Formats: sequence, C-alpha cells, structure tokens
Amino acid sequence: MLKRCGRRLLLALAGALLACLLVLTADPPPPPVPAERGRRALRSLAGPSGAARAPGLEAAAAAPGAPVREVHSLSEYFSLLTRSRRDAGPPPGGVPRPADGRPRSPVEQLAPRDVFIAVKTTKKFHRARLDLLLETWISRHEEMTFIFTDGEDEALARRTGHVVNTNCSAAHSRQALSCKMAVEYDRFIESGRKWFCHVDDDNYVNVRALLRLLGSYPHTQDIYLGKPSLDRPIQATERVSENKVRPVHFWFATGGAGFCISRGLALKMSPWASGGHFLSTAERIRLPDDCTVGYIVEALLGVPLVRCGLFHSHLENLQQVPASALHEQVTLSYGMFENKRNAVHIKGPFSVEADPSRFRSIHCHLYPDTPWCPRTAIF
Ligand code: UDP
Ligand code: MN
Repeated sequence: MLKRCGRRLLLALAGALLACLLVLTADPPPPPVPAERGRRALRSLAGPSGAARAPGLEAAAAAPGAPVREVHSLSEYFSLLTRSRRDAGPPPGGVPRPADGRPRSPVEQLAPRDVFIAVKTTKKFHRARLDLLLETWISRHEEMTFIFTDGEDEALARRTGHVVNTNCSAAHSRQALSCKMAVEYDRFIESGRKWFCHVDDDNYVNVRALLRLLGSYPHTQDIYLGKPSLDRPIQATERVSENKVRPVHFWFATGGAGFCISRGLALKMSPWASGGHFLSTAERIRLPDDCTVGYIVEALLGVPLVRCGLFHSHLENLQQVPASALHEQVTLSYGMFENKRNAVHIKGPFSVEADPSRFRSIHCHLYPDTPWCPRTAIF
C-alpha cells in the first residue's frame, strides 16, 4: 500500500516537474505594447475611412530603441491593449505600487479659487454624465469648476454659470478634443489662477485631496502632475518641416485620470498651446489632446511628468482602490475595463443598481452632511 502511494507520489512529482519545464522553455511573452487609451486611441489613430492605420501605431509606446510593433487588424489591436493593460496592472496580491507624487509637506495654503478645474464634456453627455457630477462633487466646488462643452443647454446654464460653449465639433475626433483642450488652456490663462486641472466627465474629483496635493508644490515652478497609463514613454513621430519627420518619445498623463499643471509651467507652454497653437502642435504629432500636453511639457520644454498614483481612470482596475483610502485619492472614475463594469468598490449607502458609478456613495462617504445622503449610513 505504502509502496503504491510512494510510486504515485513520484509520478505526480515527475509530471509537475515536466509541466514546469514546459512553461519555462515556452516562448517568452510578447513585448509589452501600448497599455492604454483603448477606444480613444483607436478612434484617434483611425484614418478618414474609419479604419485604424495600424502603422499609425507609430504612436505606440516603446522603450527608446525598441522596435515599434506593427498591428494589422482592429481585433489584434484590442487584444494587445487588453493583454498589455494586464501586464501593466498592479502586481499579484493586490499590493499597490509605491505611488510617488503624493502630497509632501505643504508649501502653499491654497483656496478653492486658486485652482481652475476644467471638465471636458459633450452635449450628449449633459444628462447622462454631467448631472451626476453636478449633484456630487461639483455642487461643493462650483467656484473652481468650469464645464467645457460643444452645445447650448439651457437647463445646464440654469444650474451653473461656469459653462463654456467651445463651439468645437461634437465629434470624438483628435481635432475636436484638441479644440476643447485649447479653449480650456486659454480660459485658464485668462483666469489668473495658480493651477490648471483637466478632468473628463466620468471623473469624480476629491477636491480636498486635490488641494492638499497641489499645496505641496509651488505653483510658480514647473509642475506637471498626473498618472501615465502606459508603462513606458509613448513613441511618436514629430513633423519638423514640410517633408521631414523624426521620432520623439515622452511620458504623458492620461486625460481620463485627470492631470494638473502649475501656472509657472502653463505660461511657458504658451508658444505651443495658446490661441490656435495647441491645434497645430497636436497636428505636428497627430496624437490626442492629452498626449499633446505631454509632448509640449516633456519633449518641448524638458519638464518631467510627476507621477501620482492618486489619479485614477477607468483604464485601471478601480476595484483595487481601497475604500479605506478614498479620502486620499484625488480623482476616481467609472466605466469599462477588460469588458467588465469597472467602478470603485464601496459598501453603501446606495446599491450598485441605484448608483452604478458609485459616485453617490463616494460623495456621501466624503461629505456625510450632504442633505440627500442617508443619515444612517455607516461606512
Ligand atoms: N467626449 C467629447 N466628445 C465626444 C465624445 C466624448 O468631448 O464626442 C469627451 C467625454 O465627454 C469625456 C472624454 O471625451 O470627457 C472621454 O470620453 P469617453 O469617456 O466616452 O471615452 P474614453 O476615452 O474614456 O474611452
Ligand atoms: Mn472615459
């Protein structure tokens, strides 16, 4: 009996060893490719016919010197994005990567009117997305928040005086998005405020945490704060003259997680960002608005992005943001991730059905004195 068990055990061990050897000698995993931007990047890289120009992945993320990977179909592109997002995700065990760019000791006491938060939206999302923001975080911080949209909306104008109709096209094209960013930048410069922050209309901004973070950097210095979603610099092609292009690589903060720029830096960006210049700069590298900001700051001005793990887009797994650390997070989001609903995990006070984005629950967690928050809520 013992002998038979011993033989079985030996056989099992040999099998396991063989399996390990097979895994170790199998092909190495493919090199990582763009780790983010999903549909937005795809749309932006799509030519006029709507088909993605695969070698348009000239804008792929690549380590300096690494060959740029060619992608030949949309489905291949999607699967590469999904795979590399997984590669770039947090390490197993849910241990978060150390976040730099965390608030340091305060250097400036900021008042809400020192900060200009630009929310990018489009008319079709006024009811679907913006109303939720107006009910939650914007309701507490109207003087900081400016809404940049593309269509008149009387109901919206009645709710807040800070609506800017950019008259940009309502399309989700590279040009239309850059047109909005250009108007955001110009309005910020006119405002005279100390900090410019940009967010999308699917972001929750935790303004107390934002003020803490910004107050730990001097606004007169060159500060570009945000979170890249790629795990390496983006590699693009920069047009330098009529018939000359050259490769360029730089980090950029993903627009979907929000980012902030100090006034000192914003003023230096002016030759490439003010008036109509932002659009022509975006054309020079043929990338979306947030990449263009990174290009101006990192590639043209030589100012490095300060990475901050407190900004969050729906291109990362939001379930991994610990509910106990919500007070510290600067931005949150909701949406889809790897074809699944992606939102912050927080218990109550609203059910997932009643509050799928979790923004109402987050808001009650951060501002329990809000009149519509259930009084009995226990977190
Ligand atoms: N957006 C826009 N015009 C459009 C579609 C979207 O200005 O035609 C804005 C939208 O309001 C949001 C941002 O672009 O602030 C990103 O859009 P979305 O979240 O739908 O796409 P993502 O890039 O996150 O996949
Ligand atoms: Mn989004």
